[in-house]
Amino acid sequence: MDIIEIENKHGAGTYAKQPLVIVRGQGASLFDIDGVEYLDCSSGHGVANLGHAHPKIAEAIYKQASTLITLFETFPNDKRAELMKKITSLVDGLDKVFLCNSGTESVEAAFKFARISTGRKNIVAAMRAFHGRTYGALSATFNKKYREGFEPLVPGFSHVAFNNIEALEKAVNDETAAVILEVVQGEGGVYPASTEYVQAARRICDERGALLIVDEIQTGFGRTGKMFAIQHFGVTPDLLTCAKSLAGGVPMGAVLIGAKVKNLTPGVHGSTFGGNPLSCAAAVAALTVMEEEDLSGQAEAKGAYLMEKLRAIQSSNIREVRGMGLMIGIEMKQKVAPYLKALQEKKIIALNAGMTVIRLLPPLVISYEQIDHLVDVLAEVLASEMQNAE
Ligand SMILES: *Cc1c(COP(=O)(O)O)cnc(C)c1O
Repeated sequence: MDIIEIENKHGAGTYAKQPLVIVRGQGASLFDIDGVEYLDCSSGHGVANLGHAHPKIAEAIYKQASTLITLFETFPNDKRAELMKKITSLVDGLDKVFLCNSGTESVEAAFKFARISTGRKNIVAAMRAFHGRTYGALSATFNKKYREGFEPLVPGFSHVAFNNIEALEKAVNDETAAVILEVVQGEGGVYPASTEYVQAARRICDERGALLIVDEIQTGFGRTGKMFAIQHFGVTPDLLTCAKSLAGGVPMGAVLIGAKVKNLTPGVHGSTFGGNPLSCAAAVAALTVMEEEDLSGQAEAKGAYLMEKLRAIQSSNIREVRGMGLMIGIEMKQKVAPYLKALQEKKIIALNAGMTVIRLLPPLVISYEQIDHLVDVLAEVLASEMQNAE
């Protein structure tokens, strides 16, 4: 049986599989089983910010794997302490961290911390929000596609229009434990929040005694041109969730925690794999590379370059190009599935965000030559009519 057949036969069936076997990566490139090169504009949904097969990550993983892979957090460890010190130095005012293994787990932790801290039950999220697929995170996720068939979800969650200050004013009250926001909505269609909105969210939470959770799982670690996207807005959240590229591709999540979060005492939360030395060593290496290679600065410069070129593409099929740094959405007038297929035929792997948005999340180490090539292919593909397909 070939590889695709095996996955189709034995996989749970929860993924729509591409007809493409990828076996290797290098920088912003992926290679299929026949050695054909693809330009990766997905980064595994924003995981591979440092590019694939970064030698410093590989070395850190190898070293730590041959030293100590696992250690429950009740025992302190050199690599974990190093990571804790480093990650809590990234945002002024977020001096504590809870370590876990994925994005959705970091969101679950943030909700538990918000409830135990405030003694309140309700969580206000935004329409179009995506926060993950476990029950708490799913309850904060807006799209019916993810929720339907899984009810009852967790009580206490509501959704308000994104970027709408008035709606937030009405929704947040003295029973609200937290407001959770992505400051650039990812899955929802690449929608950046306005500065006024994010600042108003901070003020409203302060006035009503609610906590502000910012979900930086996709926007974090240089993607938008700063270490965290919230740093564009002059606002500090009480809880910041992150994961994806935190450990250079090794599974890891984290919640950064501000001074207003209370009652985090032994036993309140925990995780068997959380803070394991292997992931911690990978994350220390990843954060070090991010600084050494100024990946935020690269994302800012390359994002501006790419955005300008995309906006110059003449195609009546494009409705809007928007985004921040190297997190870019191209909203089309038609469904994007046929465009993504055409791009893949031309060896470019991109993502959708909803039905009508092409999402570009390339590794931040993508070269200017690769960006130029991407723009050339996009200009050609996006100019064609795709009525016939799907
Ligand atoms: C990917 C993502 C999640 C979920 O992360 P997982 O690691 O897949 O559980 C949550 N929130 C946002 C904004 C994301 O992009």
